[in-house]
Amino acid sequence: MHKAPLQAAFDAATQYLEHVADRPVARPVAASTLRERLGGPLADAGEDPSEVIRALASHVDAGLVASAGPRYFGFVIGGSLPAALAADWLTAVWDQNAALYLTSPAASVVETVVAEWLLDLLGLPASASVGLVTGGQMANFSGLAAARDEVLRRLDWDVEERGLAAAPRITVVVGAEAHATIYTALRFLGIGREQVRVVEADEQGRMRSAALQSTLAACTGPVIVCAQAGCVNTGAFDPLGEIAQLAHARGAWLHVDGAFGLWAAASTSKRALVAGAAEADSWAIDGHKWLNVPYDCGISIVRDSAAHARALRNARAAYLVGAAGGERDGQDWGPESSRRARAFPIYAALRSLGRRGVSDLVDRCCAHAADLAGRLRTLEGATVLNEVVLNQVLVRFHAPDIDAGEFTRMVIRHVQEEGTCWLGPTSWHGTTAMRISVSNWQTTAHDMGLTFASIARAVERAATSARPARLPPSPGVR
Ligand SMILES: *Cc1c(COP(=O)(O)O)cnc(C)c1O
Repeated sequence: MHKAPLQAAFDAATQYLEHVADRPVARPVAASTLRERLGGPLADAGEDPSEVIRALASHVDAGLVASAGPRYFGFVIGGSLPAALAADWLTAVWDQNAALYLTSPAASVVETVVAEWLLDLLGLPASASVGLVTGGQMANFSGLAAARDEVLRRLDWDVEERGLAAAPRITVVVGAEAHATIYTALRFLGIGREQVRVVEADEQGRMRSAALQSTLAACTGPVIVCAQAGCVNTGAFDPLGEIAQLAHARGAWLHVDGAFGLWAAASTSKRALVAGAAEADSWAIDGHKWLNVPYDCGISIVRDSAAHARALRNARAAYLVGAAGGERDGQDWGPESSRRARAFPIYAALRSLGRRGVSDLVDRCCAHAADLAGRLRTLEGATVLNEVVLNQVLVRFHAPDIDAGEFTRMVIRHVQEEGTCWLGPTSWHGTTAMRISVSNWQTTAHDMGLTFASIARAVERAATSARPARLPPSPGVR
């Protein structure tokens, strides 16, 4: 009964993966085309499962983005390691509910194992608690929920019991380059934009600690500081050691958003970048970015496990009995109740890589980014804007008589249309820049060569198409 549809899925999967490096990374496709193929009224009669799988695989194909492949450099998007992907299939097959020990002793124990491994790899306190959530967004939410609980509890305000309405007003201090999901997380937590103080960043996007110091001096009431390990544009790290000292001297909670950057802690050569990170009170990390496990996978870590549990544990319907032996109930460490057993793919990823493999994965991506930046610096009209300390490259393109932002957007469009690789725009210091994020285990030096060549062609093409716009001034017009 199961074999034929799984075989159809296996065939479609292996076919896809064999060609993922050769297909255009993103093809222009109209949503209406996809709708035509996939939509229409739901039929009364059900269809054969294998046929459904074959039709699905064939009809979505034009709308798939080859972000699992080696030349997708948009946002910060990792691929899927073979072991992680295979474990993810089994996760679906086993269909465990990871909410309780009772509903899956296996999922619960594997969660405890990966929690220990992750804390060790990332150099974080072994006694911290770990929650597996959907991504960086919910990892930020979880850490900040624990922060909200604890900073109010220190003022004898039990937020779980009494709510926020009459609570002491929390101030949240963030860097100017804080990720948007910090603001979203705060909104979920009933903390409004008016309660946020933004601290100036330097030219690389790092929070300035002197500015933090004066901001903190002006804060009254409970304070949460959000620092960043790995800016999405530059890859830069806030000065975490200095920030931790200032935050703790003020009695503030320090949360570190290290969605991709905290993985640098697992690399022997990049570890220095995260110095001081272990002094924080909570951390947000993504598994689906640099660890290259399939979506979705975020990791929330909190030093004070009691605060973590108070903020997020299940309110315990009578039938949701906790495990008798104090075993782990996954629902106590994140915002969800029933959920996928996310620990299995993490487990497979970590075992298949080993410590050295995680370190190599980080180093390799960083080396590719540095290599590409080096080549771009030799390209006429290209300016690399950031210090390439990690896996992010930020570059702007110039041509005579055209705005650099507009020209850069043209270059990006040409690269995207050609389909050799995919990278996107960002706004940096007031104008458009191209951002390149190298986060995939499969990417090779050859891929970076193809990528550089594609960018160079796009610059040529953009320069050619920009030229007719540069009309000579008409005679007689001054
Ligand atoms: C990607 C990212 C996030 C959000 O993570 P999601 O997995 O998309 O929810 C938060 N912070 C930083 C620094 C990121 O790079």
